[in-house]
Amino acid sequence: MRKKISVIHVVSIVVLGLVSCACFSSVFAQADSPVEDNSLVLTLEQEQYIENNAGIDVIVHSDWQPMMYWDKGSQTYRGINIDVMNELSRISGLNFNFIPLDNSKECIQRLANGEVDIMFEHSINNLDAATTTSEMYLEVPTMFVQVNEMCPNGKATVAMPNLDSALSKEVMKHYPQFEYVESKTLQTDHNRLDKITATYIFIQAYDFNVLRSVDSTIDYNIIFTDIRFPFNIYLSPKVDPLLLSILNQSIGQLSPKKMDAIVFEHTTNNATNVSFLGIIKENSIFIVGFVATMFVVFAGVLWLSHRRTKHKLETIAFVDDLTKISTMAKFSIDTPQQLKTAEASEYMLLHLDVNNFKYINNSFGYAIGDRVLIAITQHFTEHLNTGDILARNGGDNFIFFIKSLNGSQLKEWFDRICDVNEHINDILPKRYDLVFSVGTYVISDISMELSTMLDKANIARKSIKGSHFSCIAEYTQLMDRQVEWEKEVTLSMQLALDNHEFEAYLQPKYNLNGEYIVGAEVLVRWNHPQKGTIPPSMFISLFEQNGFIQKIDFFMFEQVCIYLNRWKAINPNHDPLTISVNLSRLHLNNTTLVEDLQSLAQKYGVSTKDIEVELTESLVFLNSELLISIMHRLKEVGFKISIDDFGSGYSSLNLLKDLPIDIIKIDKVFLDEAADTNRGQNIISSVIEMTKKLDLITVAEGVETEQQKEMLREMGCDIVQGYYYAKPMPVQEFETRYIIDKEIIS
Ligand code: C2E
Ligand code: CA
Ligand code: CA
Repeated sequence: MRKKISVIHVVSIVVLGLVSCACFSSVFAQADSPVEDNSLVLTLEQEQYIENNAGIDVIVHSDWQPMMYWDKGSQTYRGINIDVMNELSRISGLNFNFIPLDNSKECIQRLANGEVDIMFEHSINNLDAATTTSEMYLEVPTMFVQVNEMCPNGKATVAMPNLDSALSKEVMKHYPQFEYVESKTLQTDHNRLDKITATYIFIQAYDFNVLRSVDSTIDYNIIFTDIRFPFNIYLSPKVDPLLLSILNQSIGQLSPKKMDAIVFEHTTNNATNVSFLGIIKENSIFIVGFVATMFVVFAGVLWLSHRRTKHKLETIAFVDDLTKISTMAKFSIDTPQQLKTAEASEYMLLHLDVNNFKYINNSFGYAIGDRVLIAITQHFTEHLNTGDILARNGGDNFIFFIKSLNGSQLKEWFDRICDVNEHINDILPKRYDLVFSVGTYVISDISMELSTMLDKANIARKSIKGSHFSCIAEYTQLMDRQVEWEKEVTLSMQLALDNHEFEAYLQPKYNLNGEYIVGAEVLVRWNHPQKGTIPPSMFISLFEQNGFIQKIDFFMFEQVCIYLNRWKAINPNHDPLTISVNLSRLHLNNTTLVEDLQSLAQKYGVSTKDIEVELTESLVFLNSELLISIMHRLKEVGFKISIDDFGSGYSSLNLLKDLPIDIIKIDKVFLDEAADTNRGQNIISSVIEMTKKLDLITVAEGVETEQQKEMLREMGCDIVQGYYYAKPMPVQEFETRYIIDKEIIS
């Protein structure tokens, strides 16, 4: 009887186990791949096109790692491009037929005469002329890799697969110090370097990765370029333009998270993923096998396997899979244990982050990224003292719990921790410096929640922004106030907009040749019911981080339309003033930006030529195709374009000459500098001189004194704006001074 019960018991456990395995599997499967809602809004024609085209023929290559290749193991085509296609298919509903073809010439031919519909660029060929290109779906860094000694005459040559491609031309333009030669070998195979006599080869990061994997003992010298290698889809000239529009819309919907996952999957050598699902699946197969053979043996095995699973789960929970140090789960058990007997301020927490780690992953692949993490962890552990605790907080984040150090001790500790070169020299190219940001928090109150302590160290870390050197920052209470303020703003900004707390101020701009008003810049102010007027410096950068700036910019733009409309009614015979609006870089992601602005102007019967958009120079420096196309479209519909804060970034006028710009606004810092150095004066005068050559208008902002005004006039500056003439003022005041009293000279 006892035996019978136990058999039934075991059977029911097995059944229950299997059922719960199935449930778990589906739960984990869902958790592993959440379906993102990025379906497209299509026109009727686009929908019909998708319905009527059962399959889009796309060329696939068998040997183009990691983009596309024939995987012998799974007997399928795999790679980044294949996954991108699947994702595009999921988003759009398009179906793709794979047409295997490796011969480049034949690919182009078949694409040109419409035998196939689309292809992906294979090596750096010049397809630009014959085909239509989609929007870019991926961008990869490029570099010059030294493969031969420098010529005795000191001249460096660069081998390129094709000197005629648009990309090659851009590289040659940016790096004129090299001599460029075309290399047929590179066109067919980047790995065969023996035939190349040039000093460097030009290569994109993924190809470089493949090259390194052939012989990882070679220590290449690398020069990174500023130019990124774009991946686009090439369409046959014979296909319906609707296909291009559907592909472009779908590319626009590719989520960065998904793209990261795809790149990760194909650039990691050994992407073994120990997930709960894996363990449960593994054991369920094990279980099923034994159920079929022998119940009694199975019961034993089940017990053993349960223990093993428990051990595995514990290992997963407490030991970091990659670096083998503690996980945060283990850290949050061990740290409070030590704090139990600690005194106030005896210990400190340090939050370390590797700056731009994503860049390493993107440039060299996740396998190299993983090796770097393992190497730096080893270096960190070598510098731990007894009682110190180190954990990996996911990604490139590490947490240290150590005995408190005073200023000089901490500096010493930090220098030692940052000195990782020896460990990464054989993984990353020579002279590649890892930069760390470390935030520290001395645990003054040991009863505080660990998560709060960690937050404080993290707040300190985040206070270091965009440094090119390793930095360490100690937590101060002021930082807490900043975080509090940011929280408060984030919670109240939408309500503030609804309650009309944001107000447009106008600051006039004067023509220097006669000193009459020609326009104004609109600047936002926040009239807080409790805090009074808040200047933009307190909230603009936060709005840029959380995206709210887009709403503010549109609100300001609409205000401008309302004013221009009103002024036209007051002074119908006067030339309208030109009002400028600041547009944040975030608008670049808005595909309907130009149309939205244009229709707002139309709504108020305002001419677009009376509105100027100010884009900051740092944005122009990106020089992305997207920005250029938006600028052209803004210009086409009539807006004037000005480059704000010119000189503060690193762009040259040379970079601007091909852009549809009307106005250059010289950054205020040069005017400040001009007061006591020649440098500032020289910069302003040469910017004005060159701007004139390009037929652009110059505006100097931040003019505060008569002396500055006179200097600018002598230099030939066209327009000035600054406190010397007027501070930004509420619209009513502006209207009284310049519209109603007609200070305008028409
Ligand atoms: P900006 O676009 O460079 O605007 C010029 C800033 O210089 C304004 O500061 C203006 O008040 C100030 N200014 C003008 N003349 C003088 C002067 O003679 N001396 C001094 N010391 N300052 C002068 P404000 O209004 O505080 O705006 C700061 C920044 O906030 C702006 O710099 C702009 O980048 C941003 N911002 C303001 N409103 C908006 C907006 O509606 N949208 C966006 N995206 N950004 C805005
Ligand atoms: Ca501005
Ligand atoms: Ca400015």
